[in-house]
Amino acid sequence: MLVKGVVFYLDSGLPAEAKFLLEDFRLAVNNTIRAGLQARVTSRNALVRVAYKDFREQHPRMYAKHLVSAFEVAGSVLKNHRRRVRKGVTCRIPYVKRLMMKAENQAYKLDRKSGVIDLPIRAGCHIDLRLIISEYHRKYLDDTALSLGSLTVLPDRVIVAFKKDAPKPYIPDSVISLDTNERSLDGLFVQGDVAKAVKADFPEVAIIQQRHHDRRKRLQKKKAHDRRTSRNLCRRDGAREHRRIDYRLHQVANSVLKFAEERKSAIVLEDLKGMRPKRSKELNRRLSMWPRRKLHRIIEYKAQWRGIPVFKVDPRNSSRTCPICGRIQDSRMGAEFKCECGWHFDKHVNASISLLQTAISKGMAGGLWLNPGAFQHDVMMILYEPAMAARSEPNGTSGVAGVT
Ligand SMILES: [Zn+2]
Repeated sequence: MLVKGVVFYLDSGLPAEAKFLLEDFRLAVNNTIRAGLQARVTSRNALVRVAYKDFREQHPRMYAKHLVSAFEVAGSVLKNHRRRVRKGVTCRIPYVKRLMMKAENQAYKLDRKSGVIDLPIRAGCHIDLRLIISEYHRKYLDDTALSLGSLTVLPDRVIVAFKKDAPKPYIPDSVISLDTNERSLDGLFVQGDVAKAVKADFPEVAIIQQRHHDRRKRLQKKKAHDRRTSRNLCRRDGAREHRRIDYRLHQVANSVLKFAEERKSAIVLEDLKGMRPKRSKELNRRLSMWPRRKLHRIIEYKAQWRGIPVFKVDPRNSSRTCPICGRIQDSRMGAEFKCECGWHFDKHVNASISLLQTAISKGMAGGLWLNPGAFQHDVMMILYEPAMAARSEPNGTSGVAGVT
């Protein structure tokens, strides 16, 4: 079962009764966390056993299903807490600060035509939440293959979970093999006996990382006398960095998937598990892996949702292997891969050829084959470049030129 959370904003804000409900819910979650810690339990059922009776008395007006879902939220907080404690990370007793509530799918009604949510608060008291609906939202509301999951209510927006069974991936007619780098996806597209280089460029991701890193360094220096403020400011800056990068990674993923879907391609990616740059600390940060891992997660998830086949292959030696003669080269080389047999090509695209050959040898690409001789050396298909971003930021980070 695949789940996708879709954010809706509300037409006229949250009614006052709902605000009280959020506060009650948060209180119930935090009380459950404490009760769970005391009784050393984390599963929802165990929490219900430990805490339900007292809570029913403390929150007599709360809709019972909401109370059970508070136990569920508390349970997941407790599980994360326990994981951190086991890892030996010192941490405080968890406390949910954010105002939120979650309702399971039997605990609310959404009229998918009008976009009105009927949310019970207590016996005899229901409120209506009017959702603002765009074309994007319509796609989900009107799709009868999607069923409704839980509803998360936040002070300024709600998140509706849509669920569906994973569609069966199509049989590919072609394949895109992509090598994932710090600033781009480089690879090739193979259809029949034609092979072309493809590229999706996202240089801004590294630039944004660098800039936020520098900003946090400055903040730490400036606020050295006040650790708490410094920590809070840095956390906020980090969250902003993640949002800005996420936005771009989604754009890149969408472009790649659109390209693949239109040509009925399978996608081959390297398995980034366990890969980390073995360099100095400074370089480690600069080349941090998380945007690349995140990009893969987004591509895989969206592909699954749309039925596009994705194959992951072990990237070992992929950047050093000659696709013609199979020799493995010294790892130090420039932008171009050169082999004694005469083959030479862009280093990154060459790596993607090796990835594809691995996939083919494992029978993943469904009878496709690759003849490196069929390569059209002078063609480069652009899957994505920063100029394609629909929204540019006011401080000009969307253009690479002029960014330091
Ligand atoms: Zn060679």
